[in-house]
Amino acid sequence: MVEPYCYACGAPNPRAFYTVDAVPVHSVLLMPSRDEALRYPRGRLELGFCSNCGFIQNNAFDPSLHEYSTRYEETQGFSPTFTRFAEELARGLVERYGIRGKTVLEIGCGKGEFLSLLVELGDNRGIGIDPSLIPERLPASARERILSVQDFYENHVDLTREADAVICRHTLEHIQPVQDFIQLVREGIGNRRDVLVCFEVPDVARVLEENAFWDVYYEHCSYFSLGSLGRLFREAGFELLELYRDYGDQYLILVGRVGTNGERFSGEESPKRLERMVAVFETRVQEAMDVWRERFAAWRAAGKRVVLWGGGSKGVAFLTTLGLGEEVGYVVDINPYKQGMYMPGSGHEVVSPAFLEAYRPDVVIVMNPIYTEEIQAELARLGLEPELVRVGVPA
Ligand SMILES: [Zn+2]
Repeated sequence: MVEPYCYACGAPNPRAFYTVDAVPVHSVLLMPSRDEALRYPRGRLELGFCSNCGFIQNNAFDPSLHEYSTRYEETQGFSPTFTRFAEELARGLVERYGIRGKTVLEIGCGKGEFLSLLVELGDNRGIGIDPSLIPERLPASARERILSVQDFYENHVDLTREADAVICRHTLEHIQPVQDFIQLVREGIGNRRDVLVCFEVPDVARVLEENAFWDVYYEHCSYFSLGSLGRLFREAGFELLELYRDYGDQYLILVGRVGTNGERFSGEESPKRLERMVAVFETRVQEAMDVWRERFAAWRAAGKRVVLWGGGSKGVAFLTTLGLGEEVGYVVDINPYKQGMYMPGSGHEVVSPAFLEAYRPDVVIVMNPIYTEEIQAELARLGLEPELVRVGVPA
């Protein structure tokens, strides 16, 4: 076997500190039958920490197991909370950096919601690149001004030459050779210093602090902190204009451009500091899982009906990492494209919120606390008052 090396800086042997065997290789691909969901291919997770640059990666990641296609249902656009956040980010970029009458390229644009926002807010032209892009699902108001490229960015780097801004949200964490990838973007831009780049990824520091094992899954092979993300971009020849946490401190936002100046931002921790956080996570995460297993056992013994709210990757990781089956009745999701489908790995059926009116759950596990208010409002509308348990929030 080849010794692993850090995909962000090239240093040898990222130290393994967390492993999960047999996790579904995809967590948001729709499974039309329980059988198919249960038989879904699995891979191995082995998180490794690079003490040189602070980057965390799945050392055991096998990119050949991946299937990114139009069946890939990643959108969070059905949530008002997420939509509001995206609107504020888009408006901020347009206003602060004058992205008006320009060409915006989005790498990994998903179903194109964010790109459409930028196109409409700034009267821009868009280039959307994503293997799961479905042009018909683009809002009619923006469709004509967006060039849809249903493919991977690596095959269309030349399009970067046309871009005044390069956006990439929740994509870099799915890419294994992150250093090579950022270098591609850098080369695509050339020496045009007026081209803005904006990247958004989950914050691994929060995952470590909260023992959030549900935020570690196969699709995410790369994990960033403020420090490691900043270092990666500076090494590739970018200077940073903004670097901060947002969305209840769950996401990192980086805005930059080609250059070598640029300040350091508050919160950019050293690899040493991250190393200590990794060590704490390593000693506490199994304990955190045991606490959850005991809770589910108690609910089951008491005959309580338990559902999970959130049929995305967090839900899949939570169910499969804890090895839950009948302890959870259903998974609720507001995305109509997911309802009636099954969770890969655990085989739980995904239902609509309205389904709960008849099912009357006793306990609702909230997979992302930022949606608590939305969920509470929906439950109240249905006349339900189950116990809400939020993951990542101390009981
Ligand atoms: Zn490294």
